[in-house]
Amino acid sequence: MKIGRIEAIVGPMFAGKTEELLRRLKRMEYAHKNVILFKPDIDTRYEESYVVSHNKNKSLCVCLKKSVDMFNYVTDKTDAIFIDEFQFLDDESLDVIIALKRRGIRIVLSGLDKDFRGEPFGVMPNVLALADEVLKLRAVCVKCGADANCTQRIINNSPASYNDPIILVGATDSYEARCDACFEIKDKKYKYE
Ligand code: ADP
Ligand code: MG
Ligand code: ZN
Repeated sequence: MKIGRIEAIVGPMFAGKTEELLRRLKRMEYAHKNVILFKPDIDTRYEESYVVSHNKNKSLCVCLKKSVDMFNYVTDKTDAIFIDEFQFLDDESLDVIIALKRRGIRIVLSGLDKDFRGEPFGVMPNVLALADEVLKLRAVCVKCGADANCTQRIINNSPASYNDPIILVGATDSYEARCDACFEIKDKKYKYE
């Protein structure tokens, strides 16, 4: 029985996760392997879209409404699947990638390890435990230039609060890379502090 493997690429926004994912994808294409690129259907209603990195590398992908939909695209010929923005997938995604690994498929996924509150993001802690290989990338802090582990959320030009809703209608919402020292989150309570 041929068993595949799970490779996870994580870190904050701007760390180069999507670039690394597309780099590994390109190598499989050069080797004429059968690959599929997925991303969760978060901001589009189309079945096909693009995975795009911050420096404008892009590749056509399949949009997933649910993680089990991956089974509709994978065939006996599939060598590898690539999934961007994995943190937005449902809890079922863990069993889906285990099943695909057991079918001999290589799974490469990228996603945010922490949310804008600095806390583990959705399914990602379990994904990291299940992965055969983990690459944790860092961005560059926009404030001080140190290595950045955090995704800073900015709402109307100031740091977001712990309790700000994920979707804010009518506000300018943006994100930047920051180190732990420059990361700011209003109303966050740290235990033992
Ligand atoms: P991710 O998927 O992790 O959000 P991308 O792969 O889309 O990141 O983009 C990484 C690219 O973003 C870098 O190669 C660089 O060109 C650009 N970039 C912009 N701002 C920053 C920053 N603060 N730190 C590092 N890279 C940055
Ligand atoms: Mg990305
Ligand atoms: Zn900093």
